[in-house]
Amino acid sequence: MSNEAKILDGRVILVTGAGYGIGRTAAQTYARAGATVILLGRTQEALNDTYDLIEAEGLPQPAVLPFDLEEKDESQYQQLAQVIADNFGRLDGVLLNAGVLGQRTPLDNYHWDTWQKVMQINVNGQFVLMKHLLPLLNEAPDAAVIFTSSSVGREGRAYWGAYSVSKFATEGLMQVMAEELENTSNVRVYSLNPGGTRTSMRAAAYPAENPANVPEAESIMPAYLYLMGPDSAALHGQALDARALTGELTA
Ligand code: NDP
Repeated sequence: MSNEAKILDGRVILVTGAGYGIGRTAAQTYARAGATVILLGRTQEALNDTYDLIEAEGLPQPAVLPFDLEEKDESQYQQLAQVIADNFGRLDGVLLNAGVLGQRTPLDNYHWDTWQKVMQINVNGQFVLMKHLLPLLNEAPDAAVIFTSSSVGREGRAYWGAYSVSKFATEGLMQVMAEELENTSNVRVYSLNPGGTRTSMRAAAYPAENPANVPEAESIMPAYLYLMGPDSAALHGQALDARALTGELTA
């Protein structure tokens, strides 16, 4: 493996939603670049499968951390951060990738329970997770946080309901954090829109689409790796597009 491919050597990176889809591929990508990856998600078996894939390649041993971001009790997030501090002693990056789609329906038909669930997992859980991880990230010599957005988080679209609103909130959270950390911290933050990617969420959002026509997560990994690595500091606070950034990086 080339030196360039090992840009995360020695770093500890937390990936949320690491059991499936983009999160699984990103976890593999970070491990291939030398990182010890902490795999967070709701479904233990899926996290174990990601673990096995990383182990099978002989990469740095990952860790499985089952956790449900629907959890509302703040002390659970505090404990989670403590477990990471106690077991790894450092944290150099977080990919906030976990998310749920909710309903695709007009607002006047949207279920209140679903709305609250989407906002809890996609926004509130991410906020309180970051609240408790920031002290550890601040101790790292160079750390990155990647929030996951969407095109409907940058321009509202009919029938995307809580998902669209949650992604606008994600952009807001990233911007507030970026300004708070500016010049006072070694933590860089970004929001990244993966663009249409072949996963179960994409299939649920576009049931009539042929998945074979949708790019795989692997195709946008140059952007995910670049932002997590040390060379992207100049992009701190920016809302980015994974496909466009990958195009620039691989041109
Ligand atoms: P998937 O549905 O394949 O994966 C979502 C991940 O989030 C799963 O690993 C899931 O794990 C995890 N997750 C969901 N709910 C929770 C929870 N309560 N607690 C912990 N983890 C949870 O989606 P994608 O890979 O497609 O999406 C990844 C991100 O990219 C999302 O933020 C999505 O909004 C965004 N995105 C995706 C696009 C696409 O085309 N695929 C386009 C634009 C944005 P589990 O099932 O075990 O809960």
